[in-house]
Amino acid sequence: MTDAKEIWVFVELTSAGIRQVSLQLLAKARALEINNRVAALVPGGNEDVLKELSKHGAEKIYVVEGLDGYKLDTYTEVIAECIKKYNPHIVLFGATHIGRELAPSVASSLRLGLTADCTDLSMQVDNLIQTRPAFGGNIIADISCKTFPQMATVRPNVFSAKEFDGEAEIIREKVNAPKSIFEVIEEIKAQGEHRSIEDARIVISGGRGLKRKEDFEMLEMLASSLGGAVGCSRPIVEKGWMPKSAQVGQSGKTISPDLYIAIGVSGSVQHQAGIKSAKKIVAINSDPNAPIFDIADYALVGDLYEIVPAMIEELKGEKNDRA
Ligand SMILES: Cc1cc2nc3c(=O)[nH]c(=O)nc-3n(C[C@H](O)[C@H](O)[C@H](O)COP(=O)(O)OP(=O)(O)OC[C@H]3O[C@@H](n4cnc5c(N)ncnc54)[C@H](O)[C@@H]3O)c2cc1C
Repeated sequence: MTDAKEIWVFVELTSAGIRQVSLQLLAKARALEINNRVAALVPGGNEDVLKELSKHGAEKIYVVEGLDGYKLDTYTEVIAECIKKYNPHIVLFGATHIGRELAPSVASSLRLGLTADCTDLSMQVDNLIQTRPAFGGNIIADISCKTFPQMATVRPNVFSAKEFDGEAEIIREKVNAPKSIFEVIEEIKAQGEHRSIEDARIVISGGRGLKRKEDFEMLEMLASSLGGAVGCSRPIVEKGWMPKSAQVGQSGKTISPDLYIAIGVSGSVQHQAGIKSAKKIVAINSDPNAPIFDIADYALVGDLYEIVPAMIEELKGEKNDRA
């Protein structure tokens, strides 16, 4: 354990830039009540990336130079070496496809504990309390790893990114990347993959108020007119009408869109857990006492089979007027 108590955030880069969850984790790391210094660990990254990390709360940036594209074995080895060299107090990863395989691989190579898929983080003196649903989402558990650095993966969108003043100290770590046992032969874009609800600014969710699987086509039409993605409640996934990746809520995804439209969703506590940081919520439900109305900014009480087609028609009309 170091005196400096550095909290590291592993930064994921995509062709579109820094993954939002990395910026969200920097903001959360800054808010943790510990005499800490927040550092970003970034594989490569140009000046724009470094500026962006500095603006979003990194006080120190370890730039790992010499790593090519992501490969599990080389990244594991290099990150483990950096951790051994600099001895941070806490290391955080986004619970993304990459974070979910890289963090456990780094943790096991260093014989460290790891809490996966956290939905909150807090400090008890120097001890990181990692909160996550457990036993199928039936309880919320506070977990603390006994080994240091304490490591966790954290769900995207449970925290918000923030901007800070100040300029980060840059440390360039040049590595001779070890040879990977993996070779990328071809990259194939997934066919017919459901549009991700995690990054969408507008999400339209359907619940058990929809009577048939085909009725989700209505939601797809509404989503495509608004440039949004379609999500759903858990029973819809259980029926096999939508993929698990579209489930919103405690045992599904946590999202923070600008606009969330809940259609035929009652708004159970488990569903609400996934939309706490949605900026505006519109609910369409025939039951005026549905709990979703307690958190909705706009309530449309009525039959979704009348309201949704009317919305689609209205949006079509607007589009034609603009053309
Ligand atoms: C451990 C655990 C974890 C869970 N995790 C999740 C989770 O991650 N996400 C999740 O969603 N749920 C989760 N659940 C399930 C949750 O408790 C609820 O059962 C579920 O959210 C209800 O889904 P729903 O709103 O689609 O269905 P319902 O509660 O049945 O609501 C349907 C709504 O549709 C309305 N409706 C019906 N017909 C119409 C119509 N024609 N027009 C307009 N409105 C209409 C009704 O008034 C009703 O409010 C979890 C449960 C447990 C025990």
